[in-house]
Amino acid sequence: MPEYEFKMQRLFVEADLATGATIEASRSHANYLLSVLRRQPGDPILLFNGRDGEWLARIVSGERKRCTLQVERQTRPQPEPRGPVYCFAPLKHARLDYMVQKAVEMGAAALRPVWTEHVQVSRLNLDRMRANAVEAAEQCGILALPEILPPERLDLLLDRWDADVALIYCDEAGPAADPSTALAPLRGRSLAVLVGPEGGFSDAERKRLAALPFVVPISLGPRILRADTAAVAALAVVQLFAGDWTQAVASRNAES
Ligand code: SAH
Repeated sequence: MPEYEFKMQRLFVEADLATGATIEASRSHANYLLSVLRRQPGDPILLFNGRDGEWLARIVSGERKRCTLQVERQTRPQPEPRGPVYCFAPLKHARLDYMVQKAVEMGAAALRPVWTEHVQVSRLNLDRMRANAVEAAEQCGILALPEILPPERLDLLLDRWDADVALIYCDEAGPAADPSTALAPLRGRSLAVLVGPEGGFSDAERKRLAALPFVVPISLGPRILRADTAAVAALAVVQLFAGDWTQAVASRNAES
């Protein structure tokens, strides 16, 4: 099997994964495998649990809502979680679903909802966020499932911030500037990214953020982006100039 079998179906399971383990698929997974994908006993499938890496398994029996899987061998080791913490003001349902999925695809190691002054939602469903994170990881072959952190007020988050972690703050009201200038010196450091709500940051929030030594303001260009668009743009420039995109390219070039 090639180093990375992208086409094969990948499912997240809670169970421990080891050679010879037998796993009862959940009812929804059983229905998906047997009724939607029409898989048969003997068909292969990739499993991951966020702890043990990725494993090849096979369907050993399946009828209606029950499906038993037999784990054969590990196909990829569990990577160390090393991406940025993505801090964000929660959005309304569909946009929040989208933003969580994109943050996971872009390599966020953890998701931290942040209550800011202009946030436009007052409740948050962490289970829904986790389900979106799992779905994005299944579809994109991401094995280190991001941690879903409890929501925190911005002022309290800043009060308790670990100053060793650079907080990259996307400032929509700042001057349009090349983010690489601010981001390149951060390569190799622990990183977090902060994106505000649809209503933007308040003047008081911007004033406090600008005064903190661990905060690194960046521009996402000359246009104001919607918060979910800003999530993708911010994580793209952070991963490119200070994150794992360059290392990934360098290591792939070294292998070829
Ligand atoms: N609706 C607000 C903008 C908020 S956009 C307004 O019209 O002013 C939501 C968040 O995305 C912002 O708080 C900021 O964190 C980020 N963002 C959007 N465009 C940006 C830009 N050009 N530069 C930096 N951050 C940006």
